[in-house]
Amino acid sequence: MKILLNKNDLNEALNKVSNIGFVPTMGSLHKGHISLIKKSLNECKYTVVSIFINPQQFNNKEDYKKYPKNIKKDLSILKKLKIDFVFLPDKKTIYSKKRGIKIKISKREKILCAKFRKGHFEGVLDVMDRLTKLIKPNKIYMGEKDYQQLYLVKNFIEKRYKSKIISCETIRDKYKLALSSRNFLLKRKYLKKARLLTNNLIIFKKRLKKQKNMKNLIKKKIIELSKIYKVKFDYLEIRNRKNLKLSRKIESSKLFFAYSINDIRLIDNF
Ligand code: AMP
Repeated sequence: MKILLNKNDLNEALNKVSNIGFVPTMGSLHKGHISLIKKSLNECKYTVVSIFINPQQFNNKEDYKKYPKNIKKDLSILKKLKIDFVFLPDKKTIYSKKRGIKIKISKREKILCAKFRKGHFEGVLDVMDRLTKLIKPNKIYMGEKDYQQLYLVKNFIEKRYKSKIISCETIRDKYKLALSSRNFLLKRKYLKKARLLTNNLIIFKKRLKKQKNMKNLIKKKIIELSKIYKVKFDYLEIRNRKNLKLSRKIESSKLFFAYSINDIRLIDNF
């Protein structure tokens, strides 16, 4: 495994290399990330994993500061997986070139997390644009856990580059909570609550199938869960899985939700 720190390292390493799978991450690796990496190792000749906590996609300075960091452990995980290259750029390497035209997402797209985290996806698209330009991967592996991110990045990158975005299923712990680096920030009692809340919503979604007054039931569910688990919901919505439009057809939809628990923001969909 070669560690690449800057553009020179990257150019030197990837110069004559083709069939590249790329897994962008912000580190604090868990089994979710590992499943993406394994898919890339299976499908591509070379696998590049990047670890970069992108300041541009944090709409809140405190959130950026407290984002978990575990670089030593991450490198040992990556070494064991036998990936070819790990890219560890600093802010200067990524943002040395100023962007001519600012990336904007449309009004229609300002839903779910885009509504609650101003500038977040603009930051994600910007860094994905820069990383794709540098690495020129054939395939980019991304998780369904961040479904709206996957949707926006796919539309953005596939229009501009030859790289294909490969969507990967969400990996959960044995209590069905989606794995997330942010889970490392949760004390045991909050982790337990997050697991119970997830299970509650899995059952809720199954029951919604037969109901007519969905909007009302969702409203009530937000109130109920906020009270029981002392969480603050940003949203709990049923949306079509293809175009993310609000929907009542459960079969072609996903339940999307985001909430804060003890000031840690978690998102999921199923
Ligand atoms: P992050 O490091 O949180 O920015 O995530 C890097 C990539 O891993 C993104 O494409 C995420 O969607 C994906 N990812 C994060 N958690 C999971 C999970 N539990 N299952 C599958 N993919 C995940």
